[in-house]
Amino acid sequence: MIKGYAGRVLEVDLRARSFFFAPLDEETARLYIGGKGYGTRLLYDRTPAGIDPLGPENLLIFATGPLNGSVAPQSNRFAVICKSPLTGGIGNATCGGSFALGMKKAGIDVLIVKDRAERPLRLEIDGDRDAVEFLDAGDLWGKGTYATQKLLSRKHQHAVIGPAGENLVLFAGIVSNERIAGRTGVGAVMGSKLLKAVSVRGSRKLDMEDPEKFKAYTKEVRKLFEDHPVLGESMRRFGTGGIVNTTNGRNILPTRNFQKGHFERAMDLSGEFLEDHGLKGVKTSCIHCPVTCGRDVEVEGVGVVKGPEYETLALMGSNLEIGDIKKVAEWNYHADDLGMDTISLGATLSFAMELVERGMLDANLHFGEQAGVTELIQDIGHRRGLGAELADGTKRLAAKYGGSEFAMHVKGLELSAYDPRGSFAQGVEYATTNRGGCHVQGASMYMESVGPLTINPQNLKLKADIPIMQQNIACAINSMVLCIFTTYGMIPKAVHEMNPSSFKYRALAFAFENLPGALLRGAMGIKGKPMLWFEKWLTYITGTTFSSGHLQEIGARIFNLERMYNLREGLTSADDTLPPRILHESTFPGMDSGHPLHLLLPSYYKKRGWSADGVPLRRTLERLQVRV
Ligand code: SF4
Repeated sequence: MIKGYAGRVLEVDLRARSFFFAPLDEETARLYIGGKGYGTRLLYDRTPAGIDPLGPENLLIFATGPLNGSVAPQSNRFAVICKSPLTGGIGNATCGGSFALGMKKAGIDVLIVKDRAERPLRLEIDGDRDAVEFLDAGDLWGKGTYATQKLLSRKHQHAVIGPAGENLVLFAGIVSNERIAGRTGVGAVMGSKLLKAVSVRGSRKLDMEDPEKFKAYTKEVRKLFEDHPVLGESMRRFGTGGIVNTTNGRNILPTRNFQKGHFERAMDLSGEFLEDHGLKGVKTSCIHCPVTCGRDVEVEGVGVVKGPEYETLALMGSNLEIGDIKKVAEWNYHADDLGMDTISLGATLSFAMELVERGMLDANLHFGEQAGVTELIQDIGHRRGLGAELADGTKRLAAKYGGSEFAMHVKGLELSAYDPRGSFAQGVEYATTNRGGCHVQGASMYMESVGPLTINPQNLKLKADIPIMQQNIACAINSMVLCIFTTYGMIPKAVHEMNPSSFKYRALAFAFENLPGALLRGAMGIKGKPMLWFEKWLTYITGTTFSSGHLQEIGARIFNLERMYNLREGLTSADDTLPPRILHESTFPGMDSGHPLHLLLPSYYKKRGWSADGVPLRRTLERLQVRV
């Protein structure tokens, strides 16, 4: 077995209450690494087309990668893969917490959960004894994610759902510690299987090719991260909430259901404000990560809990026109405890508010007003009253009440918090990303509108190339499985420290923006020596040399396989679009329309090696060794 892997796949049948261990497939690991890539390959091969995502035929796959279980910063995440009940296409989400470490210690790379239990149960896995216990979870059913984890064994690491997953809220997530695999409804799939919790333990150690080099290099990277202006300074000091003032300043902070990109009270939602007014005790971190981007906050009547991250501050703050960070923190706590994705939740609430404003829905729910929101969040998690309708997300709500022109989703997945009208590459990424309107499957906005190297985010230059490069690398990162924030360190400290009005900086930005697209993608695709930390870690752990070129190729393979999965499930190029509000309404003075997707999509397809209607060409699949 290649080093870095435990070498085992555990397959569990919930109905039969049976399980077996099988060897990890080395060829699949070589082609898809692990995590999201390995899981997508399994889902494609093991499920027939057209299954009900909430039916017993769907698989729920938990997958780690070769970096998990090591002490590399940002490396203790797991991926969950299944057919998404929200989009009908590929579903996946990644999560920090401690579950990935638990899986690797138990000697399990991938856990496949099949079928559906007959009554609520939980799994307890002991990797040292190769034992899986199927335990009754009737006493836990209905409990929140925090209470559930408190009641489970302290010797195990856990992945659990809350009431939202049990009640099949289509944007329910899976929680480990205080972190959540939030997107695409993976928690609803776990709930549909009547599986409340998976607990795992073991004492195995990661076997790596060159532990000495790995250790020495990891020390260097920790230092690099600690000194980095984003990872070591702003994210450490302000958390991801430090982005609020940046996006607000660039007019891309979703406000009033994306009617505006600027919120007057943005400062009150920012990481800077939180530092002065709400931060309690230590900042929190995923295991071994020096970035510590988590915040602790005090919620009245609850105590000190995980604070809201940027996406939550935007989607449940500015987008609802709420400038009260304490209230957003409280809603964030309830959403986490119910086990719901705050991006989809916030976007669905804002869509409902606009429906009410336009007289299309009768409810006591208004922009800028807190009244009723706390109760409605609980009702969504428990599918009660109006909450039962919001629990199906924006797309289905629009199908019932109208308003599809301002329903802010792509493929059924609600948009995250970077308005693409001021970030054109991000718009192409939202439109084409296989799981729908999400930012962590590429994070193109970092290259054009949020990061330090400010190129013009509103012209057409590189706006089809950046998403391809970013989506590919994100596919690889989510398969190792690393935190996507590791890519923020790719722009070196020296660039951050340049004066933006200096000649040197402007020359650099000009040169970058005017690179031929093929050169940009080519530069990222050179196969050879490992240059960046994640390439070097992979190389030291597995013994196989990885460079950015290899990772771009593997990422493209995964991306194209996901695309083939979506096409098989009935999605088409018509789904590669943006909400009509984004395409047709302007939020920038001097611009009379929105995002120019129609000018960029044909070029994106061509550069991907796809037909004009968005289908990967046979030669593209052959080149990338994508078997379909
Ligand atoms: S940067 Fe933040 S989310 Fe990423 S691994 Fe570190 S603490 Fe976790």
